Amino acid sequence: MKPDLKPSLAGAMLLSLNLWACAPRALAMEEPIGSATGNAKPTARIAEFAGDRAAAISYTFDDNLRDQYTLAVPMLDEMNFKGTFFVIAGKTAETPEEGEQKQENGNPRNLWGGISWPELKNMADHGHEIASHTWTHPSLTKLTPEDLDAQLGKAYDAIKTRIGKPPLTIAFPGNASNPDVQAAALKYHVAYRGFQQSTKGNSTVASLNTWADKLIQEKKWGVLMIHGIAKGYAALSDPEIFHEHLKYVKGRERDVWIDTFANISRYEKERDGAKLKLAGDPGHITFELSSALNLQLDHVPLTIVIDAAGVTMASANRAGENLPVRVGKSSIQIEAVPSMQPIAVTWK
Ligand SMILES: [Zn+2]
Repeated sequence: MKPDLKPSLAGAMLLSLNLWACAPRALAMEEPIGSATGNAKPTARIAEFAGDRAAAISYTFDDNLRDQYTLAVPMLDEMNFKGTFFVIAGKTAETPEEGEQKQENGNPRNLWGGISWPELKNMADHGHEIASHTWTHPSLTKLTPEDLDAQLGKAYDAIKTRIGKPPLTIAFPGNASNPDVQAAALKYHVAYRGFQQSTKGNSTVASLNTWADKLIQEKKWGVLMIHGIAKGYAALSDPEIFHEHLKYVKGRERDVWIDTFANISRYEKERDGAKLKLAGDPGHITFELSSALNLQLDHVPLTIVIDAAGVTMASANRAGENLPVRVGKSSIQIEAVPSMQPIAVTWK
């Protein structure tokens, strides 16, 4: 992709290019464009992950097992991390008391639905994602189209009603799907979990930390699938393993973006469909960040990285409103949702 240079009315050069971020890291943007005065033209790009971090992690919890609420949620809250909870809507307890009874039950399947609706609502109000794991957890690939739609639709409606917002994403029971199941799921949801790493009885702090390190090294998004914390299917040998791992990741927060499955899914889709159009000179530029996508739902902000060294102050303004700006050693970062309204950035 080559920058397309055209003279503007003022005689300055207008840099206009389409940035389709699904192409690996749009390097064309990084090429400095010399001007008549010898000053380099500003360059900018859409960050691969929010905050221009190297990697991303989503912690996802399946089957709404009660100890995810009593043990894992306080750990996540301590780090200010947001988790994604794939709940079996038709098995969910009505009250905390009913949830506690499920936890006492011996058969692992009877533990399902142990986080009650009011508790899930409270978690959602604190930023955790309450997502769908279908109505009753059947293997979706074996259902008729009508039954498949009922499993998806009933769970969607129940979560929307009980939580106050619709489930944006879904995880398939047993992670079993086929193209028909995936297409049906995308009628209700923005994304489905299509890849994951699982915690098990033999997971250790070291194995989880190594996984996180590898994601940072390979610049990837990792999705951890968690079932039991202390009890139930694939429970950890000790809940503190998860706690220690979260502390470790918190220490690497500059390199890894921890967020819900819905937020990182939306960021990726938006990033891959966004277009960045830049004009101006270093110290004073305007850009447009538009998206061809119609996600029918709220956009998440994308991180725009402008190359600029030795900056002491910067501001970004869109339609009279200041946008969040971070000044780094060699760049300025701006958080903005795609929209047709231009953004003016000034710095010195
Ligand atoms: Zn499950």
